[in-house]
Amino acid sequence: MAAAAAEVPEVLRECGCKGIRTCLICERQRGGDPPWQLPPAKTHHFIYCSDTGWAVGSEESDFEGWAFPFPGVMLIEDFVTQEEEAELVRLMDCDPWKLSQSGRRKQDYGPKVNFRKQKLKTEGFCGLPSFSREVVRRMGLYPGLEGFQPVEQCNLDYCPERGSAIDPHLDDAWLWGERLVSLNLLSPTVLSMCREAPGSLLLCSAPSAAPEVLVDSVI
Ligand SMILES: [Zn+2]
Repeated sequence: MAAAAAEVPEVLRECGCKGIRTCLICERQRGGDPPWQLPPAKTHHFIYCSDTGWAVGSEESDFEGWAFPFPGVMLIEDFVTQEEEAELVRLMDCDPWKLSQSGRRKQDYGPKVNFRKQKLKTEGFCGLPSFSREVVRRMGLYPGLEGFQPVEQCNLDYCPERGSAIDPHLDDAWLWGERLVSLNLLSPTVLSMCREAPGSLLLCSAPSAAPEVLVDSVI
């Protein structure tokens, strides 16, 4: 067993989970079901279309062909080149990664935050990594990101072998403002947004290009 364990890379043996959070590593060690349970909610999936800015019902689902406007999201493809991506990752890996909850690893650059008291401590914070300068400058060239000034940078490493995940959450607008920017590197990523509020949603026929007012339906 010791020999087998030695062959597993270190990043797949260590775990930073606390409380009810788990990852594949600690679930394997604990055995049994994880302490959390997925809610038995019936969900409907809509996929964001960056051409139209609408969320469109998944193919072969009950809502195929239906859609609703989904403002406030902007998707920029190929924001960095493959060469820039490789260099960014190489520079990130020069700094140590810390274990985080749910199989994530992270590097934090920013002031210390007390979320409960909504206070910041800036001692010890000496700015973002130098390689972020060009990334932030380029962000400011896009409509909607003019004047964007990051308060902090958090590099997150998600790895399927660790079962890395993050629970659905609301980010703290008091600290980060209304704009959150994610730069995805190395692999395709799905960002899910959920709506837990009760009530109805007005659906229209999915627009093919420019959204137009079409037939309405309420679910
Ligand atoms: Zn874990």
